[in-house]
Amino acid sequence: MISTAITVPFGVTRCPRDNPSALVRCRLEFVLNKDTHCQFTGHSRTPLSVHAREKSPFEVARPLQRSLRASYRNASMTISVSSGTLAWAHVGDLHVTAEHEPNYRDFQSIVESMNTNLAGQVDFCVLPGDNADDGSAEQYDLIRQALERCKIPVHVIPGDHDRKPGNLDAFYQRLQVPALPNATTVAGYRCLFLDVVSAGGGGPDFALGHQQLRWLESHLQSASLRKLASVVFMHAYPADLKGDGNALQRLLQQYRVAFVDMGHTHYNELANDGTTIFATTRSTGQIEEGPVGFSLASLSHGVVSWRFKPLQSRWPFTMITSPADHRLVTDIDRPGHVVAAQFSVTARVFGASPAHECRCRINEGPWTPLQLEGLEWKGSCVAPRQQFMLTVEATDIAGAKGDDTIIVATAGYRPPKRIVDGSDADAVGAWPERHLLGTRLGPNRNGRQW
Ligand SMILES: [Zn+2]
Repeated sequence: MISTAITVPFGVTRCPRDNPSALVRCRLEFVLNKDTHCQFTGHSRTPLSVHAREKSPFEVARPLQRSLRASYRNASMTISVSSGTLAWAHVGDLHVTAEHEPNYRDFQSIVESMNTNLAGQVDFCVLPGDNADDGSAEQYDLIRQALERCKIPVHVIPGDHDRKPGNLDAFYQRLQVPALPNATTVAGYRCLFLDVVSAGGGGPDFALGHQQLRWLESHLQSASLRKLASVVFMHAYPADLKGDGNALQRLLQQYRVAFVDMGHTHYNELANDGTTIFATTRSTGQIEEGPVGFSLASLSHGVVSWRFKPLQSRWPFTMITSPADHRLVTDIDRPGHVVAAQFSVTARVFGASPAHECRCRINEGPWTPLQLEGLEWKGSCVAPRQQFMLTVEATDIAGAKGDDTIIVATAGYRPPKRIVDGSDADAVGAWPERHLLGTRLGPNRNGRQW
């Protein structure tokens, strides 16, 4: 299937008398202003509304946040025609304190790098919580200033640090983010964004609460009826939730949620419980494990791919989106998980310079060219009988190369025994090529107490 994805940057509206295909970027302040006018034509603008979006029961009770959400709608939308692949960037816990601190500078550099190398190539960017270290208005203003420069749609969820003041008022008012929980369909996938720190009165309680659990179940159910795969974005592992972690884990299993993307740990980690891949990404602030960067993740017909991109590493950045690495196999009966005979290879190549050549090979065998369709490089290979190494190598028009290698499972593959408790008990362990160091250095495990 040919794929098309047009990305609408953070803070974009379209002037109704502009060329319909022309997207005009403006600052968020303009979006908030009722009599906003197009800077080029002078005509009044209308929000560019793309995704169908359900109201959460929470929004009905939050008129203030609903009005803020309306302004953010422009900022969080992606025009996406289903390509079968959802791809996103994840910038780990920011813990922003002050403008001069290295983590804020790093965040600004990440935004610039994503603008240059990823805009139009990923569906959105996620901030997984613990965005503002103290949850203060000043810290959120800094985050918002950085996000206003971002050309990729952004989804932000809160973490325990965001609720340090005892509420998320500053989080919503300063970032202008939609009320949570929130659901949106991107590239044919249901993306469900949760708030695990607001349930209960004392917060941060690390709980979903009855209302949010019901909301989640109804969305998973309706997605399932529409045969849409769901991805859940939340701050911490389900097992970290008090009281309703088991209920959440049951829902993930029941509806076969392929991917749960999280923050909180501060280190890179992938866990596979046999149904769901749980991923955490190295924090941007309070780093103890390796250099700063961000992760890129994809979900393609049930196949999960995940890579960490150090900020200073070179582009292009190649990511095999299918088949799955054997560590990320979640459905042995599905194509792309365990391969046999002829199988399809798909890959994304990210970077400012377009790739002009992409090829793959099995083990040390001959190279097979891949063809570009939309954003994806595609081809096919014949699998050997034994587990094998698959490499995809891309060359951009500047001559720079980027490759990705995975180990693919073949017939007879037996998955390891799983714990399936919504925690990191099923972590795949160290995977240095993926910057998964297995050290679990962070404030919540083996690291310092921040
Ligand atoms: Zn946290």
